[in-house]
Order: sequence, then C-alpha cells, then structure tokens
Amino acid sequence: QKQEWAQLKDTTTKTRDNVHVELAANIGTPNDLKGVLENGAEGIGLYRTEFLYMDRTELPTEEQQYDAYKKVLASMGNKPVVVRTLDIGGDKELPYLDFPKEMNPFLGYRAIRLCLKEKSIFETQLRALLRASTEGNLKIMFPMIATIDEFIEARDYLLSVKDKLFEEGYAVSEDIEIGMMVEIPSAALLADKFADVVDFFSIGTNDLIQYTFAADRMNEHVSYLYQPYNPSLLRLIDMVIQAAHAKGKWVGMCGEMAGDEIAVPILLGLGLDEFSMSSTSILPTRALLSKLSKEEMKQLGSEALKCRSANEVEQLVKATVKFK
Ligand code: PEP
Ligand code: MG
Repeated sequence: QKQEWAQLKDTTTKTRDNVHVELAANIGTPNDLKGVLENGAEGIGLYRTEFLYMDRTELPTEEQQYDAYKKVLASMGNKPVVVRTLDIGGDKELPYLDFPKEMNPFLGYRAIRLCLKEKSIFETQLRALLRASTEGNLKIMFPMIATIDEFIEARDYLLSVKDKLFEEGYAVSEDIEIGMMVEIPSAALLADKFADVVDFFSIGTNDLIQYTFAADRMNEHVSYLYQPYNPSLLRLIDMVIQAAHAKGKWVGMCGEMAGDEIAVPILLGLGLDEFSMSSTSILPTRALLSKLSKEEMKQLGSEALKCRSANEVEQLVKATVKFK
C-alpha cells in the first residue's frame, strides 16, 4: 500500500473516470512545508495563521509575518496557497491580548469578529499578506463569517489596505482571490447570496459540525453529536456546492472531514472541487479517489442526502464502495 501511495506522489489527483479534483494540505507554520512537498500536495488549502500569533509573547510584526507568508508562497511556486486570516478566540487564546472572559467563547468575540473591531491587528496582517502576494499564487479567506455584511466589510477593508500599499509604492498581485470559510450554518443557508460576492468557499466542517449540532467540539460528553455523516450536515454542504457552482465559483473543504474515507466518496459525488487535509492523508486519499468514479458517486451523494441518520449514511457508503 505504501508503495502504491509513493507512486502517486507526483501525479495530479484523478478519479477513475478521469475527473480532476484538487488535493491540498492544511498547514500551521512554514515548518509544515516539508510534509506538504513530500506528500505531493497540489496546493495549500488552509494556512492557519494563528500559530504565528500563538508562538510568541506579543503580536507578530508586519515584517515577521511577511517573512513567513513569503516563505510559504515561494516554496509552493505556482500552486495555490489559501491563507486564512487570524482565527483567534474560541479554543485559541492569546495570553498577551487580554479580552474579557466569556461565558461561551465559541459563540463569542473571535476570528473575523475580532479583526473587524481591532483593525490595527487586521491591517498588519493584510499588509504582510498583500506584500507577499507577488511571491506566488495567494488566495485569502476570512474565518467565521456569519453575514454578508461581515464579508463585504472585510473584503472592502482588504481592498483599502491594498490601495494604500500601492500609494506607498509596493507591488501587490492583481489576481488574488478573496473567499470565505463556511463554518456557521447561517452562511451555508445563504450560500446563494454569498456566492455573488465571494471568489470561493472553503467549508470548515470542524466548526460547521459544532454549530449545526450545538455540540462543543472539545466536550467529550457530547462527542456522540459530532456527526460528519449526518444528512443534516450533508444537506448544508450540498447547498453550498450547488449555490457556488450556479455562479461559477469553486468550493473546497478544509475540515477533518475532507480526508475521511467514508466522507470522501460522498463529497466527490456532491461535487466538491478541492479537498484540504493534513499532509499525511493526501496520498491515501489520492489512492482512494483514483478508484472512485465521480459519475457513480453522484448517485451515492444524492442517496446520502435522503438518509435519516449518520449511521444509515455510513452503511450506505460501505455497501457501495469497496475499501481495501
Ligand atoms: C474548521 O472549523 O473546520 C477549520 C478548518 O478551522 P479550525 O479547525 O482551525 O477551526
Ligand atoms: Mg474553524
């Protein structure tokens, strides 16, 4: 099996019926690049930038961030690199920023909510990212978007930072796609409207599951409610993909679910364009996809949407796909 995977390292991902889907890697720091390159990722689908902020005792400067972003973009060459802007709060705290303790941190002041209020933190990151954009194929996405207004405010702020950089004489790439994570049900439900204003979506299932089932992703007592195969979640995912494709936009997934062998056949059938996962899952997933026909999985996808429970979906997949 290891040998079979190794042979797939330098190939693009193709299904049995010859459809290309993109397999990308999730990273937290430039140190993760080694694994990305060794496992033949076709891009980076999620760069979690918060580690840059967590690894130190004060906010990272524009130069420190610029160096990190430049390194990642340059090592990936022309391959796409999706960078997520700061997603702090919830389970991720910064000791040097002391915001009031909250009753429900996962429902509180975090991610884009914080960045839109603390504009100087946001500006520093956007400046560093935009300056690094000439080094490679940069795409930027905002985490935890709940409303269209938040997305538009974040995007317009990014565009104003870009104008300012131009005035200062910096070069900035002209074709940076600007997208968002779909990790709050409100965004999935209104995906057809969001699709008018974004360049792409990336579905963050770790949080989307937590918010759909109202079950804290860190609480073991409710972990039975963490159900990636539940048709309610699959229907949200389907809505996002349909809405995006109707407007010619692409959809990725960067939660754990994207590398899960039961979920992958369904996601392929529902039309997901990009799967982003930890580097070690890339080759096994590429091997699995090479044995699946997208056309056949469409049928599986639509049957899964009609099931009544996660268990029923799992049985359906196991009866349809021969895993080795
Ligand atoms: C997610 O929510 O699925 C996601 C990819 O982001 P994180 O796990 O960093 O919250
Ligand atoms: Mg998340």
